[in-house]
Amino acid sequence: MHDVVIIGGGPGGYAAALYAHNFGLSVALVEKDRLGGTCLVRGCIPAKTWLETASVYQTVARSSEFGVESSEPTLDWPAALARKNQIVDGLVKGLSGLLKTRGVEVHEGFGRIVDGGIEVTASDGATTTLAAKATIIATGSVPRTIPGYVIDGERIVSSDHALDWTRQPDRVAVIGAGAIGAEFASMLADVGSEVHLFEALDQILPGMEPEAAKAVGRSFRKKRIKVKTSTQVGAPHMSATGVMVPFGDDSVEVDVVLVAVGRAPVTEGVGLETIGVTTDRGFIPVDPETMQTVVPNVYAVGDIVAGTPQLAHVGFAEAIAAITHIATGETAPVDYRAVPMIVYTHPEAASVGLTEAQAIEQGFEVEVTNHGMRGVGRAIIHGETGGVVKIVAKKDGPILGATVVDPVAGEVIHELMYSVGWEALPSEAAAFIHAHPTISEGIGETLLAAAKRPLH
Ligand code: NAD
Repeated sequence: MHDVVIIGGGPGGYAAALYAHNFGLSVALVEKDRLGGTCLVRGCIPAKTWLETASVYQTVARSSEFGVESSEPTLDWPAALARKNQIVDGLVKGLSGLLKTRGVEVHEGFGRIVDGGIEVTASDGATTTLAAKATIIATGSVPRTIPGYVIDGERIVSSDHALDWTRQPDRVAVIGAGAIGAEFASMLADVGSEVHLFEALDQILPGMEPEAAKAVGRSFRKKRIKVKTSTQVGAPHMSATGVMVPFGDDSVEVDVVLVAVGRAPVTEGVGLETIGVTTDRGFIPVDPETMQTVVPNVYAVGDIVAGTPQLAHVGFAEAIAAITHIATGETAPVDYRAVPMIVYTHPEAASVGLTEAQAIEQGFEVEVTNHGMRGVGRAIIHGETGGVVKIVAKKDGPILGATVVDPVAGEVIHELMYSVGWEALPSEAAAFIHAHPTISEGIGETLLAAAKRPLH
């Protein structure tokens, strides 16, 4: 009998398996595919590797601005794909080794809760049943699509396929301008593909501050991405030369359509019905203090949890909460108020805490401070002055949320994570000295302005 059996070896599942080591729990981890899950195998890591290739390409393309002469860059797509695969393979191998050193028993196969345990069906059909004192479901998510757009992996694809394209597409329609759609649009345009980006809502990056969407939108225009917001696409038609994507009275022909309209939880077939765990549109409701489902010794973490962000780092934190409760009976609830969210477009858009609209909706009287990166020395040195910082504070109170747009926004957002998490007043956060010259200074200046004592 194991102390814990975990179904799913992505960030939620593998983090739970690794963290259990702190308490000496005996753990079995069941994975039907490769260890690492969406994030490592077909999400964060490969996507950011492609974005890094695009960034290097642009550095070379713009080098003469910096007084460095070079020839026009050309992209060796197969070499970039090989580097992506090498990075993913290395991390999967590293994870597998780490699990081994932590004494985690890894079972390859499909895990399903049955009477008396967790049944694992291997690819050859052989089954074993594992007994467990506690079970963690961490089965993750898969790309969704929209009516008319049947994913065939060739002309109509999801991010799963796009990460493994063997050649660069010339013309791409991206449907959905959330994190996935915006990141692919940015990457593909930076390496010279023609990109049409369609978003049903009235701004790109709909969950983010409008100032961030505008700043990223300006950079998208410079990349010649054709952005269509408030636009629904009609069903596509295959033509001899590509795919016709209709919208309004118009249409565009592309070589491939990438559908990025969200991710659906994977909870079917896991045997939830056998134990009485019901789902809400496929998501599993949990007690946020402990990550327990309605069945006390069955926990859920990661993308399948109802009402929490589908982010790898949230999965990690939920895994820690679940394992802490299983091992000690104590709670270690996830602090969802201060979760950084980063969209790795170029420039990046990063946010933490509440947006202005969310704060107002929650009844706060707010004070908002906006600051541009135009006058920030390091941003000028980088040749990237289109960034913004926005801080939302409760009137005469603490910082509730913040947003940064800049090529390194994903790194510098973390100081604002502490400000939001520790409920710092703008004046308290502004009292610390930011090093000069840095991008973080743009945040320092915004904090000074939010404390009503601007400097520059
Ligand atoms: P998403 O929900 O973030 O964005 C999907 C977008 O598609 C939305 O803006 C939505 O309005 C739009 N949309 C839906 N139907 C449409 C239609 N018919 N026509 C045009 N637009 C339409 O989903 P995603 O970008 O697919 O990402 C899935 C999940 O993975 C999200 O939770 C996201 O946060 C997470 N993710 C995060 C990162 C990151 O943190 N960098 C990267 C990738 C994915």
